[in-house]
Amino acid sequence: MSLGEFDLINRYFDRPPRRATLGIGDDCALFSVDPGMQIATSCDMLVEGRHFLSTVAPERLGHKALAVNLSDLAACGAEPLAFTLALALPRADEAFLDGFSRGLLALADAHGCELIGGDTTQGPLNICISVFGQVPTVGINDASTDLGALLRSGARAGDDLYVSGTLGDARLALEVFRGMLSLDGRDFDAARMAMELPQPRVALGLALRGVASSAIDVSDGLLGDLRHILQRSGVDGVVEVDAVPRSAVLRKQSLALQRLCTLSGGDDYELLFTAAPDRAARVAAAAASAGVAVSRIGRIVPRPESAAGPRAELFDAEGRPVVHGHASFDHFRA
Ligand code: ADP
Ligand code: MG
Repeated sequence: MSLGEFDLINRYFDRPPRRATLGIGDDCALFSVDPGMQIATSCDMLVEGRHFLSTVAPERLGHKALAVNLSDLAACGAEPLAFTLALALPRADEAFLDGFSRGLLALADAHGCELIGGDTTQGPLNICISVFGQVPTVGINDASTDLGALLRSGARAGDDLYVSGTLGDARLALEVFRGMLSLDGRDFDAARMAMELPQPRVALGLALRGVASSAIDVSDGLLGDLRHILQRSGVDGVVEVDAVPRSAVLRKQSLALQRLCTLSGGDDYELLFTAAPDRAARVAAAAASAGVAVSRIGRIVPRPESAAGPRAELFDAEGRPVVHGHASFDHFRA
């Protein structure tokens, strides 16, 4: 390595701490949360060939590595504070590090989330970020308030089911990379942007605190992630499949491909959440304040006593049942 480990950290990652008491350079970083708040933390790893393709521009890779972590904070209604970065690099490639750190730190700055530490080693390209946010300490196991963290477990029969943004474009781009279909240049750029530059819905997550009854971010595919809500909440779901919002680019494809991409695509990083029907106006206000479109795509129904596990019933716009055989993404089954 021409560039040593510590030169690399200094040059690309070390910046003066802002909110943190102590950032990069000591054995530990130090930071605190505001009074009445607790830490929300999550960790996501990105492995080349599994979570991203070698064709991705380093700047976009830096963005996405943090975006997927911020998306977890968004799903909990947590305000981003700080993150750490564990990085394995085949070599100290300055062009890569320059782009990667630029994309990473631009998104970090946009969300006021500072890089406070990490670890750097030589090895196959692997990026692991731990993110820290804050949410009010109230809420969990406290029926008198719902102003705390958004959880997967709060959906109740009768709630409406919503999703933010549009789904399916990341999967559409993946199908192109896999050689399964081709798109014209402009459509491909748009789909590729959804795959490589997802926008974590942090502002929406914050605005939904005290409004949504449950939430999750869509990373493995809508139906698979819905299943997590249904499982943890002990309820079932009904989804109107063609009400799931999709981009103009995806709408040009066959209905079968649209459904595959929106229902099982994954890598969307939109928020899937539930709210009681009498909160519909507050959901709309939260969406407007966050500047993100939100669509109602179904509802939550009681789970029959005899049911072995959660079930999501799928219908088309005419109320006819839809059969959808594609599971969501599972790293050990894919
Ligand atoms: P230690 O051996 O005590 O774990 P290191 O020598 O690995 O510390 O790292 C020195 C400092 O640089 C630490 O403060 C660590 O948090 C920080 N650091 C290392 N790698 C990164 C990275 N990729 N991004 C940000 N900070 C890093
Ligand atoms: Mg170390």
